[in-house]
Amino acid sequence: MTDSGFTSSIVPRAPLGAYANEPFEDFKQPEIARAMREALDSVASQLGHEYDLIIGGSRIKTAEKIRSVNPARPAQVVGVHQQAGAEYVEPAMKAALTAFESWRHVPVATRVSLLLGAAEKIRQRKFEFCAWLTYEVGKNWAEADADVGETIDFLEFYAREALRLSRATTPIQYPGERNELIYVPLGVGAVIPPWNFPFAIMAGMTAAAIVCGNTVVLKPSSDAPTLAAKYLEVLEEVGMPDGVVNLCPGSGPTFGNAIVEHPKTRFISFTGSKAVGLEINERAAKTQPGQIWIKRTVLEMGGKDSILVSADADIDAAVDGIVASAFGFSGQKCSACSRAIIEAPVYDVFVERVRERVAKLTIGNPFENPNIGPVINKAALDSMLRYIEIGKKEGRLIAGGNAPEIEGGFYLEPTVIADVAPNAVLAQEEIFGPVLALIKVNSFGEGLAVANNTQYGLTGAVYTSSREKLDRARAEFHVGNLYFNRKCTGAMVGAHPFGGFNMSGTDSKAGGGDYLLLFSQAKSVAEKL
Ligand code: NAD
Repeated sequence: MTDSGFTSSIVPRAPLGAYANEPFEDFKQPEIARAMREALDSVASQLGHEYDLIIGGSRIKTAEKIRSVNPARPAQVVGVHQQAGAEYVEPAMKAALTAFESWRHVPVATRVSLLLGAAEKIRQRKFEFCAWLTYEVGKNWAEADADVGETIDFLEFYAREALRLSRATTPIQYPGERNELIYVPLGVGAVIPPWNFPFAIMAGMTAAAIVCGNTVVLKPSSDAPTLAAKYLEVLEEVGMPDGVVNLCPGSGPTFGNAIVEHPKTRFISFTGSKAVGLEINERAAKTQPGQIWIKRTVLEMGGKDSILVSADADIDAAVDGIVASAFGFSGQKCSACSRAIIEAPVYDVFVERVRERVAKLTIGNPFENPNIGPVINKAALDSMLRYIEIGKKEGRLIAGGNAPEIEGGFYLEPTVIADVAPNAVLAQEEIFGPVLALIKVNSFGEGLAVANNTQYGLTGAVYTSSREKLDRARAEFHVGNLYFNRKCTGAMVGAHPFGGFNMSGTDSKAGGGDYLLLFSQAKSVAEKL
């Protein structure tokens, strides 16, 4: 037990090695595929368990439940969760405030050791977590592995970043004084993640906040609360004190609104849709009675991401990159390519090759590791089908468009609509599914103008063999994450700090060197010598 009342089962480790991304698993290796199958079988026997709210370490049951189901087979319940109503905001806040009083004083090295311990536990049980992702949100094996790998990366990266921040100093020492710059935590934060990276984004947002000394109320998405419950189990195993992370699954409009509005909420870390992000922004801006600070909001939102293909590009590489970016995890990534903008001289050949490439994609239950699994739920599928109907009027359907019946799951074929105008609905609104619009342009300059013509600004890519065009795109393509001659998905922690411009969010750059500043405030101390 330390002065701050903190006990950890994790012994702070030897000096930290340099940060490196967690390697991807190669599921073509028979022993790796076998490990994944065994994990899927083992997790199958744990499906349907009930999980509690965790507030200040107490386990609580509520009358209302959230049933998380497998989108590939909705009759299969993955987990039954308590549904926190607005009345649970006050107890969760009290627990987080109480924990904050000790957690804020826990040495940074101890907080860091907790993150590293969690990373190690998750690494040891990697296939098990992959299996949970397959069941809860329908990720195929490689997508699940990328999500778990990114979770480990966030924990390892933010651990090192916290140590770096603790060594900060003022830019100069004023003569006759000793000057210090100390990054102190903010207080209690609301962490509100989306369902599509239910492990990495949820765990990363939480870890960044707590490693800085904040405590949080974590409200996971109702589509993926089981991953959050599993994360809490890991944090408890490594000795996280009660109340540092309070787990409250609940609905956005009830619990979500109430935690955002609470006068003691110091910051809101949100990732999700534009509509909800903007609503949180407005709600958080209104000062509540008794509130003594301006709430800080970190809002990462949607995208309408483009890949621009110049006539001088390697067309096969561009087709591969676009198909991977558009249809990986059924296009349910904020970074997914939903618009391919093609220069006229190569447009027809490009359309044909995309059609051929998409025809080869396999679709089915992600348990069997096809290219394409289900989309997250019935409402999402219906919305995508409505967009496809609009798209058929706005352009020419060249692939997909149907919702195949497989085990009652929420499946949608990878869909491509050609000859879409730059201002068409299909070219402007986030669909968040496997629907790709192809847009023809007459020049590279026109292509860049089209790439910039939405209200979003998250990711983008350019395929060209021209150095001049790359330089022009670097200057003019207005997105937070720009890629050259590669896909626009798959940001790696540390290498591709992630966050968007315009209506894609506050450009917080998760996985980057500035991220922890968002969860800290700098105290400047000057002592006369
Ligand atoms: P969503 O906005 O529907 O929900 C996100 C979270 O907000 C969920 O936990 C939800 O319960 C909660 N919520 C809903 N209403 C709320 C309210 N009124 N107050 C407080 N919380 C509320 O988004 P989603 O469907 O879970 O995720 C998909 C969206 O997330 C897409 O738009 C995608 O582009 C975006 N996304 C962005 C990034 C990024 O880094 N920019 C990453 C992943 C996903």
